[in-house]
Amino acid sequence: MADDIPFDNNLDLKPDTVDEPMPGVRRIMADNPGPFTFKGTLSYIVGRGKVAIVDPGPDDPAHIGALLDAVRNETVTHIFVTHTHRDHSPAVPAIKAATGATVYAEGPHRAARPLYIGEQRRLDHSGDMDFRPDVMLKDGEVVAGDGWSIEAVTTPGHTANHMAYAFKENNAMFIGDHVMAWATSIVAPPDGAMSDYMASLNKLAKRTETIYFPGHGPAIGEASRFVAYYILHRKAREASILHRLGKGATDIPTIVRAIYIGLDPRLTGAAGLSVLAHMEDLVTRGLVETDGPPAIDGVYRLFAG
Ligand SMILES: [Zn+2]
Repeated sequence: MADDIPFDNNLDLKPDTVDEPMPGVRRIMADNPGPFTFKGTLSYIVGRGKVAIVDPGPDDPAHIGALLDAVRNETVTHIFVTHTHRDHSPAVPAIKAATGATVYAEGPHRAARPLYIGEQRRLDHSGDMDFRPDVMLKDGEVVAGDGWSIEAVTTPGHTANHMAYAFKENNAMFIGDHVMAWATSIVAPPDGAMSDYMASLNKLAKRTETIYFPGHGPAIGEASRFVAYYILHRKAREASILHRLGKGATDIPTIVRAIYIGLDPRLTGAAGLSVLAHMEDLVTRGLVETDGPPAIDGVYRLFAG
């Protein structure tokens, strides 16, 4: 999908089995492989004895059972949710009912901007519209548990309510779907916004965590280097789009064919939305123009001045 990022596809973990990639961090992968989820969504267990769960995962009885099995004889005191896509949060009610834990997140699912007249919520099926946290966290808030503390780090872009969680004692971060080792993150309007996404990457670049635990795929061991690659990749995509528009007005499908070489056909729709996310940002910044609000079927040209 992109050849300028040193991707890592090595994740040797069977669905619904537990491993411990770092002392105090256990993980269990749901059996929901796919073009957007890699081998499956990862749920994490933080601490020992009195623990937190990060991202309970999809509403899948086998995964919920495996997660509860993994914490048998322990107490789940906290549930943290990185964002409200349907592969991350719908298991929350079952885990909460079984454990009595308090649920923390940035907030309910919401779009990054108001919908335009006539616009469909294209990825509506991907949002967990029922999710409500018990506690809404603000950027920088620290939640202390038994032997661990978690700092909330707002990271909008993939979704408006995306929150990463820094595990202070281990200098690690549960990064959700914001940065992944196996593929670039999807930024799809109206749930996602490219300007927010870039701002969140730049914010992460200033932090000191050395390892990221993502929602999908292997841990990222050189976190700051990886964030730098992600920033460069997004800037290169933007440059490719501007370069293509420099040859004349065109539409999003044409741009996708020109710049996503060798794309998995199942990802064509997501690639189009990713280009739309860039277009929204470029129109806002006055570099590109289109007729009316930026749309998936719009015609785009460089701003003529
Ligand atoms: Zn997601």
